[in-house]
Amino acid sequence: MKLTVVGGGYVGLTTGVCFAHLGHEVMVVEKIPQKVELLRAGRSPIYEPGLEELMHESLSSNRLKFTTNLKEGLEFSDVIFICVGTPQRPDGSADLSQVEEVARETAKLMTSYKLLIEKSTVPVNTHQLIKKTVQRYIKSPDIPYDVASNPEFLREGSAIEDFLKPDRIVVGVESERAKKIFEELYKDFNCPIIFTDPATAELIKHASNSFLAMKISFINMVADLCEKTGADIKLVADGMGYDKRIGRDFLNAGIGYGGSCFPKDVKAFIRIAQDYGLDFGLLREVDRINQERPIRFVEKVKRVLWSVKDKKLAVWGLAFKPNTDDIREAPSIKIVDMLLREGAKLSLYDPKAMENFKLLFPEGKGISYAKDPYSAVESAEGLLILTEWQEFKRADLGRVKGLMALPLIVDGRNVYEPEEVRALGFEYYPVGR
Ligand code: NAD
Repeated sequence: MKLTVVGGGYVGLTTGVCFAHLGHEVMVVEKIPQKVELLRAGRSPIYEPGLEELMHESLSSNRLKFTTNLKEGLEFSDVIFICVGTPQRPDGSADLSQVEEVARETAKLMTSYKLLIEKSTVPVNTHQLIKKTVQRYIKSPDIPYDVASNPEFLREGSAIEDFLKPDRIVVGVESERAKKIFEELYKDFNCPIIFTDPATAELIKHASNSFLAMKISFINMVADLCEKTGADIKLVADGMGYDKRIGRDFLNAGIGYGGSCFPKDVKAFIRIAQDYGLDFGLLREVDRINQERPIRFVEKVKRVLWSVKDKKLAVWGLAFKPNTDDIREAPSIKIVDMLLREGAKLSLYDPKAMENFKLLFPEGKGISYAKDPYSAVESAEGLLILTEWQEFKRADLGRVKGLMALPLIVDGRNVYEPEEVRALGFEYYPVGR
């Protein structure tokens, strides 16, 4: 099939590259010219494992094209995936201006049938707003179109695998014509395909993300209780997780969820409920608990070190999760900021996210960036772990101890087994253990 993807970010690029890999012809429309230049040269503007390799494959077989020109994208195909950003507004609601722009400009340019698909995460009933916008700006009322919802559930760090082998595909459609296009598109996917109305599909996405965020805040509160009582959160989570009704995923205690989805989607879902006259107090608590995690972590660091003023601390991990360079809403941002205010001298290291982090925290004024994890810990009086990269799990802790001024680790991600690290002579402070 011929497909057009509007927005070449984490979701749009993965969508385009994966559909091209599956044999479709894809044109990605990205409005930032520098990104398109990079992409045409076969370079990904984001770090996502396996993405660049798959991109090369499709570029060389000419199944993947990039443009800045929406008109070109609309002439290329009838199936338009909207993958633009839906960031958070100051009041917590979703900013849909990028979606509105795509709907409006598409309406002005289209001359024949188009299926407009929301892949971006949007509040329930956004499809109604898209339809209204298209009706307003379309050249002629005789041009047919459909609006559908096909939310994306991929996770950064495993986006390719998640896209190609999803747990389920959710499609909200209103016409047989649109349904048939999706049936053809997803016919080789070996997973349940749930056809619903668009409002239900939109709601499934926000409800799923909010539920997962709720699991994380829940286990983080239980971790605090473990620290007070001497219980072990990892075993508690295992003990709970074997229950099929609960499941072990998303029960890892830590410094809270971050990224471009959970924090904004939980807030947006609270707002959506409010707009319809409902108080989703449960989610307000989920959000509150999460916002406090970085504060609790810094309190712990201060409790352990008494004062951090003028102390050199190494920080391993800045990305909001492993295998990505994304630092949007990463807990590291708040933690680094609070420690700097306390007068700490920080030596930061992350395998992929340092360039992005430097844009927020340039070198100097208490901040330096290390070339590897070992140079970060040189003469440090504490090592703080903020992201659970494999590189840290496999680190030579004997070497780390030899380099540090004080062998002390405050681990925000429970990367190590406490007995093993303590046996090496470290003071070790994990979460909830
Ligand atoms: P992103 O910011 O990485 O990418 C959005 C891209 O769209 C940017 O490159 C931007 O320049 C481009 N863009 C904006 N307006 C445009 C226009 N008019 N024409 C062409 N390009 C335009 O965002 P993302 O992380 O890919 O997320 C996109 C959507 O998918 C959001 O709604 C997000 O909530 C949702 N989502 C994200 C993830 C994730 O893990 N990142 C997972 C599932 C769903």
